[in-house]
Amino acid sequence: MSAQIISGREIAEQIRAELTERVTELQGEGIRPGLATVLVGEDPASQMYVGMKNKAAAKMGIHSRQITLPSDTSEDELLGVVAGLNADPEIHGILVQLPLPDQIDEGKVIEAIHPSKDVDGFHPMSVGRLATDSGDFFAPCTPAGVIEMLVRSGHDPSGKHVVVVGRSNLVGRPLASLLLRKGRGGNATVTVCHSRTTNLADVTRTADILVVAMGRPETITADMVRPGTVVIDVGTNRVDDETSDKGYRVCGDVLFDEVKDVAAAISPVPGGVGPMTITMLLSNTVKSAVASAANTTG
Ligand code: NAP
Repeated sequence: MSAQIISGREIAEQIRAELTERVTELQGEGIRPGLATVLVGEDPASQMYVGMKNKAAAKMGIHSRQITLPSDTSEDELLGVVAGLNADPEIHGILVQLPLPDQIDEGKVIEAIHPSKDVDGFHPMSVGRLATDSGDFFAPCTPAGVIEMLVRSGHDPSGKHVVVVGRSNLVGRPLASLLLRKGRGGNATVTVCHSRTTNLADVTRTADILVVAMGRPETITADMVRPGTVVIDVGTNRVDDETSDKGYRVCGDVLFDEVKDVAAAISPVPGGVGPMTITMLLSNTVKSAVASAANTTG
């Protein structure tokens, strides 16, 4: 039996259509959500990510402003740019593309972004509020995308045993916190695995839902997955492939061709979690604009 394919691409398109409608409504009320992206240096991958974010924002009617700074920008200069964006009423979301050059302390820059504009969800206040399930905060985009994929594909994590492989601050940890929340997409029983987990397969086989964010190509094989499990693959890896014109192919952390015959549902790579990440960034920006308007009028 072959698994249901959980298409992040299709779910992302659905959410973007909903957001576009919402942005149009907001414009009628005189509110135009604004996203600022800050890029320091000329790293091609960072340039590509920032370009994709701005393009997606503009397509939706979100005002997007890209600030590109030279690679020798000082920490003080960057902090000055962030302070300006914090004070700018046209900007509701600030994204500083990581990694930053060595002379800049990333932590300091993240802490300088006002939590009300922290649409990436990396500010310690956002992280703390997520961990304690209290107050308003923006959820980090990739884990928030995983939750949306589960809920919208009919696999609500509530009451399920979810095994997360990976404990990074970017994916695994915030995802575990989101799954534990009492709200929508939460209420799961969560186990988090990492490189020191003994007998990983024994743990992954206990999952109702298995989310993998290891950064290790095609490591999760069919024998590690219990029949009927829902599998979300966050991994995005480039592996050599002589049969491809580019000389490489992109794959996940799950051996898709094998696991699809065991799982009840599975997300592919590419076309899985990837398209969801930018979508959740745009969703956070719209949410921020609405909150800002409510604060101004209320
Ligand atoms: P990371 O910071 O390298 O973390 C990897 C995690 O996997 C760590 O917690 C590590 O454990 C664990 N791990 C590594 N080898 C393991 C093993 N053999 N058994 C069990 N656990 C193991 O990576 P990340 O930033 O979380 O990203 C993970 C993957 O997701 C990458 O492929 C990345 O490209 C992808 N990603 C995709 C998106 C997207 O938008 N689609 C966004 C973010 C990340 P330790 O903590 O013990 O080292």
